[in-house]
Amino acid sequence: MHAQASSHTTTTTERGSFALARCSCGWSGPARRSRDRARTDAADHTRTATGPDAGTP
Ligand SMILES: [Zn+2]
Repeated sequence: MHAQASSHTTTTTERGSFALARCSCGWSGPARRSRDRARTDAADHTRTATGPDAGTP
């Protein structure tokens, strides 16, 4: 069995006036002007990464 633990812990990092989402898996989103947007990116990543289509090579 593949121990594909859904260890996708997302955090938002602020860089100056920009905010970007980061994940424990190494993924990082684009720099956004609003932290809310970065959070959406993070949520979107977690969704796609842990979704039904997750294990697609
Ligand atoms: Zn991730």
